[in-house]
Amino acid sequence: LKSLEEHDPKLYDLIEQEKYRQFTELELIASENFTSRAVMECLGSALTNKYSEGLPHARYYGGNEIVDQVEELCQTRAIEAYGLNPEEWGVNVQPYSGSPANFAVYTGLLKPHDRIMGLDLPSGGHLTHGFYTYSKKEGTRKAVSATSVYFESLPYQVDQVSGYIDYDQLERDAGLFKPAMIICGGSAYPRDWDYERFRKIADANGALLLMDMAHISGLVATKEQKSPFEYCDVVTTTTHKSLRGPRAGMIFFRKDERGFEHKINQAVFPALQGGPHEHQIAGVATQLLEVMTPEFHIYSKQVKKNAAALGAKLVSLGYSLATGGTENHLVLWDLKPQKITGSKFEKVCDAVSITLNKNCVPGDRSAVTPGGVRVGACAMTTRKMVEEDFEQIGQFLHEALLIALKVQEESGPKLVDFVKCLKGNADVAALRKSVN
Ligand code: PLP
Repeated sequence: LKSLEEHDPKLYDLIEQEKYRQFTELELIASENFTSRAVMECLGSALTNKYSEGLPHARYYGGNEIVDQVEELCQTRAIEAYGLNPEEWGVNVQPYSGSPANFAVYTGLLKPHDRIMGLDLPSGGHLTHGFYTYSKKEGTRKAVSATSVYFESLPYQVDQVSGYIDYDQLERDAGLFKPAMIICGGSAYPRDWDYERFRKIADANGALLLMDMAHISGLVATKEQKSPFEYCDVVTTTTHKSLRGPRAGMIFFRKDERGFEHKINQAVFPALQGGPHEHQIAGVATQLLEVMTPEFHIYSKQVKKNAAALGAKLVSLGYSLATGGTENHLVLWDLKPQKITGSKFEKVCDAVSITLNKNCVPGDRSAVTPGGVRVGACAMTTRKMVEEDFEQIGQFLHEALLIALKVQEESGPKLVDFVKCLKGNADVAALRKSVN
């Protein structure tokens, strides 16, 4: 049996290059993290060879005695990590990732074309919460994810000035739209969630309440964010962001007379998925063991402190953040006052070895040219950075922005010309050297 290096040197080399990139750049994508060696070992283990359609002790294939124990261990640890009572809450750990987890919930608990309300994508929501693009020219609306193809969605928004969710407007719209499900959670929202208010709005309209805690699930497990479990009917999550596990998804459901357990399990398999990826499930299981350690609690606290330190540094430099700051792992930086787009700033950051992403910010007129960037603290906190380091990151970002503004002056408004001007730029080379 040959190693990857011997068997496929070309691919081996690409993976080594990516490893080098990950370990030399400042990784600030809010949805990314560096997972542990133990998780990596699970992903490359013998479990990848096994078919295990069905649930533990009810499989459609033989040879699952050990796999059953792996999956049950993952389920038990998931319930334990969130401090849940196993009589009241169950979990399905088979979703391949966050998007399939959400779609399984809709498939199991809704009928096609039922109405849903989730946070709009330009307000920081996720595609899978029901998002449309609008063409003013053609006067049409286009569904860009399966959620808005198969369900009728009326997204709610953040207040365009404060950046906080406009709960009053959500309440008024829900009263008229009468959704079957309200979805909380998002991908670029720097504040915690008012579950009590969401619950009241859901109850007033007979709606189910789903929390997609993908971004903050590590912070929820360590009580650095409020728990959604008291108020929600169903909670979904990815496992690879603040939770720091492998790429996968989980669905937590209330066990009561409404029969969610059966409906959700059936939606995952056989409705949407085939054989579960037991190597991922093992990776989640071992990560959940880590999540329950005091070290992970310290880590989560530090993630929040680091995001806050970065936010404070940017504000001290005169920049504008959505909601004025953060109480979780990310800041949403509004670049509109500087008159530069998030796309251009992202390109400069890439060129100086800082990895982040362009993002819509409140008040943006188009999702195509986002007016800001999203900056997250999870990955660099895993690499042991503390507040001072994040202040330095804030300084690097400031310097990168000054370069971006200078280049924009030379290149004019078009992104292609801007990118051309970046090549061979001496300021870029100098800043990249400092960052590395
Ligand atoms: N839900 C939220 C809130 C997310 O931010 C994401 C991904 O970033 C997802 C779901 C989808 O997860 P995945 O990319 O694993 O399908």
